[in-house]
Amino acid sequence: MENVQLEGLEDSLNAKTKVVIIGHRNPDGDAVGSTLGLKLYFDKKGVPAEVILPNDYPDFLKWLPGNDQVHLYEVQKDECDRMLTDADLVFTLDFNDLSRVGDDLHQKLKTSSADFVLIDHHQQPMGFAKYLFTDDEKCSTCELVYDLIDHFGDNQWIDASIASNLYTGIMTDTGSFKYASTTSDTHRVIADLIDAGARNDQIHKKTFDVNSLNRLQLLGLALSRLEKLADHKVAFIHLSRKDLEDHDFKKGDTEGFVNYALSIKDVELAAIFIEDMNEDYVKLSLRSKNDFNVNEFAREHFNGGGHINAAGGRCDRQLEDCIAYFKETLTQYPALQCVP
Ligand code: 5GP
Ligand code: MN
Repeated sequence: MENVQLEGLEDSLNAKTKVVIIGHRNPDGDAVGSTLGLKLYFDKKGVPAEVILPNDYPDFLKWLPGNDQVHLYEVQKDECDRMLTDADLVFTLDFNDLSRVGDDLHQKLKTSSADFVLIDHHQQPMGFAKYLFTDDEKCSTCELVYDLIDHFGDNQWIDASIASNLYTGIMTDTGSFKYASTTSDTHRVIADLIDAGARNDQIHKKTFDVNSLNRLQLLGLALSRLEKLADHKVAFIHLSRKDLEDHDFKKGDTEGFVNYALSIKDVELAAIFIEDMNEDYVKLSLRSKNDFNVNEFAREHFNGGGHINAAGGRCDRQLEDCIAYFKETLTQYPALQCVP
């Protein structure tokens, strides 16, 4: 569903209001690409804007133009708090619930007197923003940022740097343009971004062809752990904290592993359970094919959310208890049972 509520926003931006742009915790390609793409556009428009991301993100996203302009809340809290206190407008990108920025930043945002602008493609956006530009049928927040620039009639300002950021977020959130969320509009936007200077071959290379040996060996271990349930169209992988430590784990190293579980013929629900490196919980990534709604599944059982075919959540139990709980929940979903 599309939700556009932008009346008065352009006036507010023209008045040179101070803007802060925020993405979600554990930023992915869409979060980093959309926040930086929007920031570089505001630079051209003459609107002072700062980017704050809650915590660090994978090295394979650090080549993005404008990367040096990102402030990490976890690292530069005082400076970020000052920016937020001064802000007139806070743009929140690629998340639907303020708590997705993590506890500390969430507390700070709750006390903010700025007007919020939500640009997002997740389902069920929470009502914290004055201005809205959301559509859960869009493949990515980057596509929405392109649409917003287009809405303001500013396409001519999309240069190679802005285009590369937006291209990257669309590419990562669509599994390189293969998910059902990829529409003909998405391809038209991508064509415009290439025309504006995004080098598609370079972007794919810089993002995906940068594996470490450790990461590939961790993938080998994850694949050796892959389990397919005999009576369900379900497959899953688990990795312990020790597995990660043994492979010198870096942020982003497990990105995409869950897709191997989903690639098994007839599997409709895939999960990966990964013990957090620092805290006592297990992080889950869920993916599905066809109609199985992992957004609802994650909300119902794992305190999470996301999209119909890609979602995440957490489980405050030991790894093996978490997997046992996951298997237990499956009994509620007859559609996932294998028909003999
Ligand atoms: P991933 O599995 O790649 O971490 O996340 C897949 C999708 O689910 C992303 O769109 C992400 O925003 C969403 N997601 C992941 N973890 C959580 C979570 O803990 N809570 C919510 N609400 N969404 C999540
Ligand atoms: Mn996204």
